[in-house]
Amino acid sequence: MAPVVVELMTTTARDLQLADDTAAAAHQQARVHQVGEDDEEGIKLAMAAAPAAEAFAVQEPPADEEALAERQAEVARLLAGFRRHLEDRSAHHLGYPYNLDFDFASLAPFLQGLCINNLGDPFVESNYGVHSRPLEVAVLDWFARLWDLGPGDYWGYVTSCGTEGNLHGLLVGREVFPDGVMYASADSHYSVFRAARMYRVRCVKVGTLVSGEMDCDDFEAKLMHNTNSPAIVNVNIGTTVKGAIDDLDKIISTLQKCGFHDRFYIHCDGALAGLIIPFLKQAPRVTFRKPGIGSVSVSGHKFLGCPVPCGVVITRREHAAVLSTDVDYISSRDATITGSRNGHAPLFLWCALNAKGRRGIRDDVHRCLRNARFLARRLRDAGVSAARLNPLSITVVLERPRDEAFVRKWQLSCQGGVAHVVVMPNVGVDKIASFVEDLAAKRRIWYPHGEGLRVGPCVAKDIGQENCLCSGLHNVSDRS
Ligand SMILES: *Cc1c(COP(=O)(O)O)cnc(C)c1O
Repeated sequence: MAPVVVELMTTTARDLQLADDTAAAAHQQARVHQVGEDDEEGIKLAMAAAPAAEAFAVQEPPADEEALAERQAEVARLLAGFRRHLEDRSAHHLGYPYNLDFDFASLAPFLQGLCINNLGDPFVESNYGVHSRPLEVAVLDWFARLWDLGPGDYWGYVTSCGTEGNLHGLLVGREVFPDGVMYASADSHYSVFRAARMYRVRCVKVGTLVSGEMDCDDFEAKLMHNTNSPAIVNVNIGTTVKGAIDDLDKIISTLQKCGFHDRFYIHCDGALAGLIIPFLKQAPRVTFRKPGIGSVSVSGHKFLGCPVPCGVVITRREHAAVLSTDVDYISSRDATITGSRNGHAPLFLWCALNAKGRRGIRDDVHRCLRNARFLARRLRDAGVSAARLNPLSITVVLERPRDEAFVRKWQLSCQGGVAHVVVMPNVGVDKIASFVEDLAAKRRIWYPHGEGLRVGPCVAKDIGQENCLCSGLHNVSDRS
């Protein structure tokens, strides 16, 4: 264990750098206080955690000129240290699907002295003039066309995130069918269930297959219990944990088979893969040409890559009216969820789309798929239970690392017995190799007698027995 501790102490020193500086000392003290003196595990956890808030306590600027200059220098040091902390955390970042591969230097002039606010409807001028609506609408046109709606046929807006896209799409669904019942697979993002609660819509949870896809047999059974109420269905275009793509065509045909015909509304949650599967020939099409598709949403900071959380939601033009209200104060219409809207987000999205184009995104998709396959293979070669559960997915699901410090270090999101790595465009083979090496080294410590044996937890339930490398009985048959 000794080398591990030394490595951590070194990082601590580098991290804090200005050990004699009062702010850094306070910062360190706060950390030690937070984790307890000799708690090695705690120190490891604190390494990955953000610096304690105490070090950043807001202070009244001193009246005395000299003290003021000192305080200003201290603020600059705090910010520089925090920037280093964020860089370190960004360098070890594998679980969250954020593409860090971007350069928005050209937008620096927009960060100073402008409060860009797109409040209200993107298609209706407000009397507030500092907005980026022209670029927002251009971005929306691009996404609408991606999903086969022409400029005159859609409505939408740049949201603050994928969650807001879900909240909006499902709200439109409820307004179209006020007496509808919502259906969402158990693997849906939590924002979907939050929407149901917020809107007081009854929500029926549908079971999933091991792949994470909605189980359409279960869906059919549940629809048949509620044939009198219209259906508002959340369809996952890439689930959060496993990256599963729900079978949109089968979901539609199940609805029709159960007699729902024109009494259903589908919201496609494409937070991550909404920008992946349009670029894969073998993938099912997400398109408004299919019956009942009411809305599609995507996150802007995920696959495309943006320095601020944002997203896009697109709905059919005729649906927008169900939410629209005139707001005298902003002299605009508003069918959006929030009031003020981030006017910088459309600038980022517009620049990213112009820089990459469809071809650039397609290249990213293919590289990510290759790298995801590489990661899954390397993990299995190292004896780790791991799999890509969907041939179109850039998500690799693996056994949950035993040590919380490791999970924190690499910022793996975990659910139950598994963790996942999302192989984004900024995750290259070097990072993958160093992650696998790190995990393999840690596993030798966690499972000291495991050399050459099947060690590690059983994850057959989560990723299927064919992908589970534990020594459990379920693997006996497929080894023979
Ligand atoms: C990430 C995610 C969301 C939420 O998106 P945010 O931009 O983080 O709000 C919704 N659905 C799925 C499937 C996701 O993976």
